[in-house]
Amino acid sequence: MVTRKALGASPGCPSPLLRRDISLHELLFPAARRSCRENHRKQMKRLNQLDLDGLQVLDGGMATELERVGCSLRNPLWSAQVLETAPHLIAAVHREYLEAGADCLVTASYQVSQKGFLEIGRSPAAADEALRAAVALAEEVRHSYRSVRPKKIWIAAGLGPYGAALHNGAEYHGNYSCSFEELVGFHSGRLAVLQETRADFIAFETIPSAEEACAILAALRQFPSLAALISFTCRDGGHLAHGESLAGAARQLDGEEQVIAIGVNCTHPAFLLPLIGEIAAVTRKRIAVYPNSGEQWDAAQHRWTGESLAGSFGAMALQWRAAGAQWIGGCCRTGPDEVRAIARALEGV
Ligand SMILES: [Zn+2]
Repeated sequence: MVTRKALGASPGCPSPLLRRDISLHELLFPAARRSCRENHRKQMKRLNQLDLDGLQVLDGGMATELERVGCSLRNPLWSAQVLETAPHLIAAVHREYLEAGADCLVTASYQVSQKGFLEIGRSPAAADEALRAAVALAEEVRHSYRSVRPKKIWIAAGLGPYGAALHNGAEYHGNYSCSFEELVGFHSGRLAVLQETRADFIAFETIPSAEEACAILAALRQFPSLAALISFTCRDGGHLAHGESLAGAARQLDGEEQVIAIGVNCTHPAFLLPLIGEIAAVTRKRIAVYPNSGEQWDAAQHRWTGESLAGSFGAMALQWRAAGAQWIGGCCRTGPDEVRAIARALEGV
């Protein structure tokens, strides 16, 4: 249950997140709260200023937690809808993950893009505003949490693949009918907005194909000061959802300065050990892993099926760390309990 206590607040700096009527406008233009700010940076930290020392524990699934507190996510925008209708619930989930031991918050912007908004009759400006609001919300949580408990906390602006904007599950196979240039434009449009926020880096998540990773690189090069994690979704212990080898995809990212980590997410945990090995064999870049629980979504039955390995995340995190993963968290069907288990397992390792 989401409680006021769970949201937390710093004395002398009342957090707007304690209010359930906080609007996107107030999150984006917090003039009344400027005195609470530690600084007034209005753009992403430059690649050469980014300090990642100490980052180990990523957060867990956002949608899973929102559903647990009663949000219906049966809409094309998924958790991005909640960003507009009940941002205090997203803030509460971010806060829960920090309490559980996460070092990094991934913003609730996976489904946000101008293309996705246009497809459901929303304006491009609304998509840009939602991107900014997702980061502003995570920033507010970071600020209120740190004023009580000093701790390094990173904010990753989460971005889904092109398929996520199609609202048809295409991100899980990567067969798109669009040109390479369209893919590049899809990603660069969001980077242009995010570079004016205070996120620390971008997290491209659930990328299904080597071609889309190439398009992301082309988009990133247009914004040379930005840093990014590029995380793939995989179908087995060696291949991306679209079929290419993970090793080949990781190799093409190896020489790219802006890529600060290569990852695997939204993938069955049983595949993680060989997948980490595939990445480690071709690059010395950081490796990030945040698999799902092992359950699969049955679209026909509208329910999750299969065995959940969520209870083993602590033990598995130690194996993933030993195999070479530096950043570890969870994706769909994982929550604060799994993040807590990861954080405890990695303590002192
Ligand atoms: Zn997932």
